[in-house]
This record gives sequence, structure tokens and C-alpha cells, in this order.
Amino acid sequence: MPPNPCPRTTDELHHHVRARISQGRLPRAVPDVEMRVRAATGASCCVCDCPIDEYVEQELSDPRTHESLRFHTVCLFVWQVESVRLP
Ligand SMILES: [Zn+2]
Repeated sequence: MPPNPCPRTTDELHHHVRARISQGRLPRAVPDVEMRVRAATGASCCVCDCPIDEYVEQELSDPRTHESLRFHTVCLFVWQVESVRLP
């Protein structure tokens, strides 16, 4: 696991991601989506709402709306895990 840059604990992040996916506020991860890793811009993370102040941000397009979704590395990891785990 990469270091967690945001104040939420990993357990809180898992809970938070599950809630957002079930509310439709986050899509589910799809296996063949194209990820872009780029220099962080300080934008808010779509999982935890904290600014992305690591060196890099992980970006992909929402498969539903094609809007950009930006993640901390750890938040992306949690999102991918929960996308598979949810019924
Ligand atoms: Zn985050």
C-alpha cells in the first residue's frame, strides 16, 4: 500500500467508496479503462475530496459521463477493490 495522504483512515476510505458507488456518485471501475498518471495539479480527489498533493495524480474518464476523475493513488486502489467487491 502506498502511504495515505489524506486524513481518512483506510477503513473510512473503504466505507466512503462503497457509499459513493451505491449512491451513484462514483462509477464502478471497469477493467479496460485507460488510466493516465500525471503531475499533480492540486485538484480534489473524487474519492476523499482532499486536494491531491502527492507528486502524481491518477486520472481516468468516468465511463458514464466522460468527465475526468482524479484520484490519490491510495484512493484509486480502494476504489478498484470496492468496485470488484460490491454485489
Ligand atoms: Zn483521495
